[in-house]
Amino acid sequence: MSGLIFDLSKDGRRCSAIPKSDIAHRAIPGHLKRDKAARLAQVAEIDLVRHYTALSRQAFGVDNGFYPLGSCTMKYNPKVNEDAAALKGFTQVHPLQAEETVQGSLEAMHTLSEALCEITGMDAASLQPAAGAQGEVVGLAIIKAYLQDKGQTQRDKLIVPDSAHGTNPASAAMTGFKVINIPSTPQGRVDLEALKSVVGDDTAALMLTNPNTVGLFDENVKEIAKIVHDAGGMVYYDGANLNAVMGLVRPGDTGFDVVHLNLHKTFSTPHGGGGPGSGPVACKNVLAPFLPGPIATKEGDTFSLQMPPKSIGRVRAFYGNFLVNIRALAYILTLGAEGIPEAAQNAVLNANYMMEKLKDIFPPAFDGPCMHEFVISIENLKKEKGITAADIAKGLIDRGIHPPTMYFPLIVSEALMIEPTETESRETLDKAIAAFRDIYDLALNDPDALKEAPITTPVGRPDETKAVRNPVLKYEF
Ligand SMILES: *Cc1c(COP(=O)(O)O)cnc(C)c1O
Repeated sequence: MSGLIFDLSKDGRRCSAIPKSDIAHRAIPGHLKRDKAARLAQVAEIDLVRHYTALSRQAFGVDNGFYPLGSCTMKYNPKVNEDAAALKGFTQVHPLQAEETVQGSLEAMHTLSEALCEITGMDAASLQPAAGAQGEVVGLAIIKAYLQDKGQTQRDKLIVPDSAHGTNPASAAMTGFKVINIPSTPQGRVDLEALKSVVGDDTAALMLTNPNTVGLFDENVKEIAKIVHDAGGMVYYDGANLNAVMGLVRPGDTGFDVVHLNLHKTFSTPHGGGGPGSGPVACKNVLAPFLPGPIATKEGDTFSLQMPPKSIGRVRAFYGNFLVNIRALAYILTLGAEGIPEAAQNAVLNANYMMEKLKDIFPPAFDGPCMHEFVISIENLKKEKGITAADIAKGLIDRGIHPPTMYFPLIVSEALMIEPTETESRETLDKAIAAFRDIYDLALNDPDALKEAPITTPVGRPDETKAVRNPVLKYEF
């Protein structure tokens, strides 16, 4: 592993040689001066470049290799979308500029909102939320504002199935609702009887993650929406996993009132790595007056920013993560109405292909065709050989593959959640399948060797407990 930049430091080394100043020198008053020189690394330009290049090579990204990190949709995103987001017309505008000088940017926001409404079957959208979880809070906050507006404040319960993404109950609690958990059936779907037994006059809404966290599409969506609507509640669709269904099924057509999307999964911005995201919220007309704003609106040939009449207000500075939204727009326009469903179909096909080719050794946690991802349980290997989901994940690292999501969803023990995505070729999938099978053989025949993995990385197995309990967060000189 490369050391720290400070380890390379030699007094007097520089990246530049600046000519002596020919301007009269004015001394800085003593009380403004630091006592000691700043502790900056002193290195030559070539060493600096090599240092950071070496660090960048230790990072693993979709551009390096297969990255089947379930729930995160780490697909390859065409570079042309980056080019669109880098256009000067988009990067060199200021959010406080007069509207008539940024008509193109407003049009781009408006066009994206319309496209997202078309894809979700909704009537209006706000691009403000900066992440999926923030979209959830916004979606629930507009439901709350709507209920308050109708004088239905007794509706304070939010129903969340146990197959929901972990952020769902957290968002419900943050928005001030009481969370009612309902169990899944053994097939991994919402238990309709359990749902019927909890809905009532106090139901504000149900939140459904679909496809859910075990990678399954709940085919009872219409029935679920009807049960909740009949009780007077609203239905929220967590659309972070829209990659599996975009262009094929629209939440708005199956009875949902509001949905959030993760543009930084499905629509061309990579998820993870701490970069900016975008979690737009789209809804039906009844909820539209409550959306956060401002929203780019079209009147005649002119675009302007408008606040919806009963808006819950702003949830973020200015207009959301504008350049993430531009990438999404480029992605949607380049794929078009034909390419979007095809991408979803290929995502589902790739996941089912891998699941089928692995199921004799790694049985899926739930039967039947999966959507864009599938969950396997390592429970049996653990019982027989002491091999855990983490061991399999570490073995994959040595074979050039980013591990799948581990120990999630919580309802499956020793879970690995695999999402190949649509952008991988059959050859890549076959190589990954071979790697999984190779690791399985190792687990059976030489489990101790697998416990050593990874052996190809600068760091093997860090002590995770120690890292959490005694984190070293700064360099000790
Ligand atoms: C990723 C994800 C979220 C949260 O999105 P963030 O942008 O990480 O906040 C919510 N729901 C589901 C189903 C997800 O997969």
